[in-house]
Amino acid sequence: MSMDLVTILYLVASVCFIQALKGLSHPTTSIRGNVFGMVGMLIAVLTTAALIVQLAGGALGLGWVLLGLLVGGTAGSVMAQRVEMTKMPELVAFMHSMIGLAAVFIAVAAVAEPWAFSISGHGQPIPGGNRVELALGAFIGAITFTGSVIAFGKLSGKYKFRLFQGRPVQFAGQHWLNLGLGLLAVFFIVGFWHSQSWLDIVLVIALGFALGVLLIIPIGGADMPVVVSMLNSYSGWAAAGIGFSLNNAMLIIAGSLVGSSGAILSYIMCKAMNRSFFNVILGGFGGDAATAAAGAQEQRNVKSGSADDAAFVLGNAESVVIVPGYGLAVARAQHAVKELAAKLTEKGIDVKYAIHPVAGRMPGHMNVLLAEAEVPYDQVFEMEDINGEFGQVDVAIILGANDVVNPAAHVKGTAIYGMPILEAYKAKTVIVNKRSMAAGYAGLDNELFYMDKTMMVFGDAKKVVEDMTKAVE
Ligand code: NDP
Repeated sequence: MSMDLVTILYLVASVCFIQALKGLSHPTTSIRGNVFGMVGMLIAVLTTAALIVQLAGGALGLGWVLLGLLVGGTAGSVMAQRVEMTKMPELVAFMHSMIGLAAVFIAVAAVAEPWAFSISGHGQPIPGGNRVELALGAFIGAITFTGSVIAFGKLSGKYKFRLFQGRPVQFAGQHWLNLGLGLLAVFFIVGFWHSQSWLDIVLVIALGFALGVLLIIPIGGADMPVVVSMLNSYSGWAAAGIGFSLNNAMLIIAGSLVGSSGAILSYIMCKAMNRSFFNVILGGFGGDAATAAAGAQEQRNVKSGSADDAAFVLGNAESVVIVPGYGLAVARAQHAVKELAAKLTEKGIDVKYAIHPVAGRMPGHMNVLLAEAEVPYDQVFEMEDINGEFGQVDVAIILGANDVVNPAAHVKGTAIYGMPILEAYKAKTVIVNKRSMAAGYAGLDNELFYMDKTMMVFGDAKKVVEDMTKAVE
């Protein structure tokens, strides 16, 4: 296979990846986007495999490639089939850890035998620029690997090991230690650039592994989705760094796509939570919510009603907006909600869903849940598109959401001040379903629950929605 053909195939795969990202930007085109991604990955993997066989030569090369494809392909497809929607962030964290580790392995292999990667002639030193790229790629890859392993542990919440628990691990001088280790890594990267010594690159990788752990342990479990999105970005940059040193256009383009899209997603999430990017990067956030939520809340009266009462109100409405939140995912009530919406629509009631960008615990959490229940896309509206309508809506029904509808976001000095919210409080009547008066993720009380026009319906979202559907019937 000529190198020109390889370049063309890599270019075709890169175009497929760009199309994949474009397709994934909307639910209606997401399947097409996925198909583009799969085709691009197939072309990239087969081209690289053919190249390895050609370079390594003979049956041994082919054997290694087939073994890799078999093990990786089987593990990937089994995991993808088994994973539950709510466990998706864990799977993504696991994948990132593998990308980080792959970047480290490739860097080590390239330092050991640079001529096999066409970086230098046999027995020749690696050119200076490539050394810097290799060291940087290995460093970021090492951070991504251990950081993603910690994120995986915290997300799963199954392991007793302290570093894998949701509670942040913080100690005095943590940020200074991280800064010191980062500077030390820069020192050894310069050392590797200067001398190409094994000791330098090994120390760079070891510092990367240590920093990956130290950067993630101070962050609370509930904030892991933002972290996973950031690690996604890191894994892309690691791949791009390695791509530069191997002169591999495919790795550079795919790595940059992943790196920049991960960074943009992290930025969007931070903005939607009104958090600064630096606050996320420095860690130490996400730990206060539980404490604040557990804090004593003054006893105030709310109007509460049964599922039947709520169904009566819904049945008399002309327009209803459903606001799903984290509790809907916990209760797995998406199918029940679709049933309720269908019953209301049958009665001639206009039903819409309002989606907040950070409702739930991962980006697109609510979109994924509703898509799983096959809710029609034309009923699903993003925050910017529906906020203007709440004033005319008869009933806003809030299912397991709290922070994303909390008017405290308009009050200076509150933890969520400045966060854009779904303005459900403007609806003529508001029905709120949750299990208790407990706070949401941000640990704040919610004025919406105490408004005159609000009816609280306590209970697990699935049970309550099913009861409402029966009553509407
Ligand atoms: P919240 O965490 O604010 O509130 C969820 C509510 O659901 C709780 O008040 C809880 O009350 C209720 N609930 C829990 N289980 C059930 C159940 N089984 N049935 C009914 N209700 C239930 O969620 P929101 O979706 O409103 O907001 C998301 C929050 O998460 C935001 O603060 C956001 O910044 C943050 N976040 C989001 C990320 C993302 O990517 N989407 C990432 C990281 C953080 P009760 O216990 O009384 O039932």
